[in-house]
Amino acid sequence: MSTSPTSGLKNLWLPYTQMKRASPPLRVVSADGVRLKLDDGTELIDGIASWWTAVHGYNHPHITKAIVAQAEVLPHVMMGGLVNKPALRLAKRLAALAPGDLSKVFFAESGSVSVEVALKMAVQYWKNKGEAGRVKFLSFHGGYHGDTLATMAVSDPGGMHAAFGDFVPRQIFAKLPATEALEAALEETLETHQGTLAAIVTEPLVQGAGGMLFHDVEVLKKIRAAADRHGLLLIVDEIFTGFGRTGTMFASEQAGIVPDIMCLSKALTGGALPLSCAIARPHVYEAFLDDDPAKAFMHGPTYMGNALGCAAANASLDLFESEPRFEQAAAISEQLSDELQYCQNLKSVKDVRVKGAIGVVELKETPDHDILKKAFVKKGVWLRPFGNIVYLTPPLVIGAEDLSRLTGAIHEVLRG
Ligand code: PMP
Repeated sequence: MSTSPTSGLKNLWLPYTQMKRASPPLRVVSADGVRLKLDDGTELIDGIASWWTAVHGYNHPHITKAIVAQAEVLPHVMMGGLVNKPALRLAKRLAALAPGDLSKVFFAESGSVSVEVALKMAVQYWKNKGEAGRVKFLSFHGGYHGDTLATMAVSDPGGMHAAFGDFVPRQIFAKLPATEALEAALEETLETHQGTLAAIVTEPLVQGAGGMLFHDVEVLKKIRAAADRHGLLLIVDEIFTGFGRTGTMFASEQAGIVPDIMCLSKALTGGALPLSCAIARPHVYEAFLDDDPAKAFMHGPTYMGNALGCAAANASLDLFESEPRFEQAAAISEQLSDELQYCQNLKSVKDVRVKGAIGVVELKETPDHDILKKAFVKKGVWLRPFGNIVYLTPPLVIGAEDLSRLTGAIHEVLRG
């Protein structure tokens, strides 16, 4: 194998990256806890937890052990007609953890695909009930639900998928019902599209990739109530918010709502392996029970319920039981509020906000991300700004000193 520093790079096509001018990516050779180690020996404190997945830090021995043990007996088996033990155990545990009577777990491999699954479930739910015309979704400006075709269609149309505007099927958008006027506008939109809508789709409490925008529990309650009033399913995308990121296991809990379908991924395996699921309530599932085989849910990813992924997810759930993740999330939240507030006085800063273990510094203008990233690396931290946002979503196990290094680096770099 070649060890040249550039070998392989010319064959890699990187995500969301202008390959013509982007700086070469940093080469990570190992990771431990909250630290990434580069091939030149540099250590970086990770402020992003690998796109919000590594809640227990990297290489948690309990997760590693579970994966290795599972790899020795059964890494994967197809789910068409066969099941594996870790998937059965995980489905049972997720049903017990999920809000209300959410209990029918359909596995997939990525967040986007779990949202695709939820959208297809909603469409076929109505078709099975004799309402085949319900093929539209209402979702919210600022939302993000994935990069695949149907998930792009329910993500903010002005956002990162703008290049595909003419390709994606048109859906219906509203603003989050954060005021009485916006609530009335949502109501009007729902009335206009009565009979064609299958479901409302939303991220709960935090719109992540759409700009780290926060809304309060009342907004989520109003969305649930609007879906109920119009007899629509509510799909809640907890892919970012699930597993402690907003301070509770799921953000939906804080509003006391039960989605009809809930999507999970990212921190489901503690960041070790790709896995996702859409969990449905019994009334959704029951619409598929029939003597007619065509009424079965017609979806089945090759790697669904992957035994290694499910073993990692079970180990991750063990850690939520045995280690104080929610207390850690609360401590992070408090520290972020204390320490990021100093950024508020900087010339370039528009807003500073914190929810759970998410800290956001919103800039007045979009910075040069490459320059910022390099400046952060010089300070020994890994951060990945997007748009006009610099944000922190650290592993929930991060210690106070390391977190201060992250907040300090943001302040120093933005101060210039
Ligand atoms: N929904 C939300 C809320 C997300 O944050 C993301 C990923 N950023 C996705 C869906 C898509 O997940 P994936 O990248 O695993 O397809």
